[in-house]
Amino acid sequence: MQTQRAYYDIDITRESYCAEIREIRVLQDTVAVMLDKTIFYPEGGGQSGDRGTINGVALVDVQEKEGEILHLVSALDGARLELGPAVLVLDMRRRRDFTVLHTAQHLLSGTILRLTGTPTVSMHLGDELCTIDVDTKVFPEETCIMVEEAVADAIEGDQPVIIHHCPPEKVSAFPLRKVPPQGEAVIRVVEIQGHDFSPCCGTHLASTGQIGMLRILGAEKYKGMTRITFIAGRRVLRDSRLLRHNGELSSRGLKVPVAETGKGVLALLEKTNQLERTIKVLEEENAGFRAEALLRQAVPHRGEPALLVESIPDAGIDEVIRIGRAAQKLSDALIVLVSPRDVKFAAFCSVKGVDIRPLLKGNMEAQGGHGGGGASFFQGTFPSGAALAAFVDALP
Ligand SMILES: [Zn+2]
Repeated sequence: MQTQRAYYDIDITRESYCAEIREIRVLQDTVAVMLDKTIFYPEGGGQSGDRGTINGVALVDVQEKEGEILHLVSALDGARLELGPAVLVLDMRRRRDFTVLHTAQHLLSGTILRLTGTPTVSMHLGDELCTIDVDTKVFPEETCIMVEEAVADAIEGDQPVIIHHCPPEKVSAFPLRKVPPQGEAVIRVVEIQGHDFSPCCGTHLASTGQIGMLRILGAEKYKGMTRITFIAGRRVLRDSRLLRHNGELSSRGLKVPVAETGKGVLALLEKTNQLERTIKVLEEENAGFRAEALLRQAVPHRGEPALLVESIPDAGIDEVIRIGRAAQKLSDALIVLVSPRDVKFAAFCSVKGVDIRPLLKGNMEAQGGHGGGGASFFQGTFPSGAALAAFVDALP
């Protein structure tokens, strides 16, 4: 059924509109409400559908299919609606957000074309980020800044946005930035005076000043082109607030001014890397000392090779392995070191031709442990301290 389209002409000061529910169509997972006239923009032209309520029932989407406008609500909510008078309330904040972004996108694409000759191939306006894909492999930071500044000039110039309705045979009179849709009785051309002509069915501001601000957040290579991410309007305000908040947290932590937090973080990272390198050297040194002390006091079990079993209660398995590796260089014994803290063990033997696995694997598995390794290094973990103790007791 045909719905009169009033979504381009809404008055932002008005809270609600009256219409009539003409049909309620039950679909697979949702219910489609058909109205005699609507203020809700259906998804199209890269802009998502409006949100709002019909008689207090929340819209989950608005779609256009084969010329019909489907106001989609959940199946549960749909059961509450009936034919007859309807009060339509538009989520004005969301509509405004997308209208700003859509107009900003025209201005951005028009400006990039004018300054660099690069056309926009596709666009996406999302709930978080908006992107355009432009047909070039290279889009350096200087170009981003140049484009941002030119867009800011156009916003300050508050250029009017003019909507033209034009029959297809006369559309070539406009210097359009992209190819107009085929098969339309009337082509809707959106002009940003002095900047851009584009065929478009989306919602747009009355002038560029209402965009407020546009920021390019990044330009990265994407499928042989460049994907430019941008925000506009109040999203810039929210982004700036978030960055300032993070900047102040960093500034306090680093004890440098907000403007120098980037340099501060790099300096901190360099310092941390140096400390990590120093700690590694000290850990190796310490493991060497502990290995020497361990070999001095431990009495190996008789056998070939001799077996040496030690528990190291204050160390985790990483430190235990470091000590074991150091001890292995100083002794021909089969060394089994246990970390009761991590409920793990590691075993080492540097004697060539000796395979330590037969001595450990079956015993480990018999106690419910699991692990693995090679002929000269083996490690395992147990479900409990008691299982680990039983494993140690069962060693020869
Ligand atoms: Zn548009």
